[in-house]
Amino acid sequence: MNTRAALSGGAAALASVSDTPFLDASLLLARALGASRERVLAMGPEALDEAGEAAFRGLIARRAAGEPVAYILGVKEFHGLSFRVDTRVLCPRPDTELLVDVAVEAVLGLAATGRAPVRIHDAFTGSGAVAVALAAELGDRAAVSMSDLSPDALVLARENARRLLGRELAATLSDCMEGVDGPFELVTANPPYVTSAFCDGICAAGGKEPRLALDGGPDGLGLYRRLAPRAREVLASGGVLAIEIGDEQGESVSALFRAAGFRGVAVLRDLGGRDRVVRGTAP
Ligand code: GLN
Repeated sequence: MNTRAALSGGAAALASVSDTPFLDASLLLARALGASRERVLAMGPEALDEAGEAAFRGLIARRAAGEPVAYILGVKEFHGLSFRVDTRVLCPRPDTELLVDVAVEAVLGLAATGRAPVRIHDAFTGSGAVAVALAAELGDRAAVSMSDLSPDALVLARENARRLLGRELAATLSDCMEGVDGPFELVTANPPYVTSAFCDGICAAGGKEPRLALDGGPDGLGLYRRLAPRAREVLASGGVLAIEIGDEQGESVSALFRAAGFRGVAVLRDLGGRDRVVRGTAP
């Protein structure tokens, strides 16, 4: 088999499980051959050696069985950084870049009013993607801390902070910021927000990501109900809460923000035009 046949055959084998079968096949072929993806794409009709072909087939079989590419590779790019990921955490999604952008904008606004460093807490941090991306981007303009309910996730988040920032980020084992005391000027979160029924479907289909990171209860809003009032308690006056939502949750989550006393509540859209982030300001 040559490289081109491997790519097209691999992509065809993944068409039913992946929205991006060619991309997946090229990343897996690069891993199997120990080459960069760019080099793999530039390869022509060279034949694969036997070991490379066997390795590639093994990786394609794992992906075809529903394992995300990020788990197979052990890394996922997010905000220009290469995060370690595995079954302890949700794989960072491109959609979540919007949360980072909104948070950075909020910090620059707060810094302009003389608050520096801005104290940021990222709840439900998972792999630490949002916390580490913010710390990397904002440098000494921000003091970033993070929390998660899962001890396993927190180990990985700490490791990502050390590897990508070369320093520790304060990390607390906590359910929805219980025991995490402010004041903070910014709270970010990408909590679990998928409905339990939908999660049942994901599990039945062999989904590999931790249910703890996805299941937001019967209506998907369970964690927002707890987080909005808790964030209000730990935010300084004028502080900002910015959280990721599912694309049909804009109205209900905005209502929860308002009920918790947030002002200037806004729903922001991702690059696909879908509602993705709700932001509000503490009075
Ligand atoms: N966006 C994720 C998904 O649709 C859900 C992330 C979450 O629950 N925080 O799979």
